[in-house]
Amino acid sequence: MIVYFIGTGGSEGIPAHLCTCQTCEEARKLGFAQRKPSTLAIITKNKKAVLIDVGTDIRDLLHVPLEAILLTHWHHDHIYGLYKLRWIAKKTTLYAPKGDADWLMVNDPKNIDVKFIKAGDVLEIDSLRITALKLNHQVETLGYLIEEDNKSVAVLYDTKGLPEETLELLEKKNLRLAIVDATYSPGIDDPYHNNVDEGAQIGLKLAERTLLSHISHKNLPFLMLDEYVRKKYGGKVLVAYDGMLFYV
Ligand SMILES: [Zn+2]
Ligand SMILES: [Zn+2]
Ligand SMILES: [Zn+2]
Repeated sequence: MIVYFIGTGGSEGIPAHLCTCQTCEEARKLGFAQRKPSTLAIITKNKKAVLIDVGTDIRDLLHVPLEAILLTHWHHDHIYGLYKLRWIAKKTTLYAPKGDADWLMVNDPKNIDVKFIKAGDVLEIDSLRITALKLNHQVETLGYLIEEDNKSVAVLYDTKGLPEETLELLEKKNLRLAIVDATYSPGIDDPYHNNVDEGAQIGLKLAERTLLSHISHKNLPFLMLDEYVRKKYGGKVLVAYDGMLFYV
């Protein structure tokens, strides 16, 4: 499978409108340092697409039929793109936790068929086996373990650390890749999100490779963050960026 990182930012995206912080100013100069809110696609071995979160308008980025859409949670940075995507011409199932479900998507979903799932549920979608995982966030939030043949990936945002049950399940899995919440810069302690080092430590415990994502403009500027992570963790942990592909 291929992981296609469509958006790797937090709620505000980078640059945040009119913000003059170092991270946002850098992103106005260097296009590759810009980040859309978190959105990724898993491309299966049969070249089918499963979308995880829809934080942005995907129309110009992924114009293929979707096998399914999975939401981690209903915070707006993970669902903005759905308001437009619900006009999709083919009936498409969206799996999501029930907590804080969006009124419009529940009551007027157009061609999206909303199905609620909970931690522990297992879905078979095309060649993928997907297990919903409990995460630690402000509202009910699911991570996903995605397995195809003998390879596995975990998507772990938004979260602060991991609940014991999720850790135990993933420790048995020999993950090829962990995609982990690293919203804030090193040293910041937030109740609902990891900082860069907290995110890296989760990945190091569980996976061969770790990609940090859900990066806020309050984090270090792109090049500084990249250098910090490479120096401290070598190639085992890297920072994801918009447009990045990872072959699992
Ligand atoms: Zn978020
Ligand atoms: Zn900023
Ligand atoms: Zn959130």
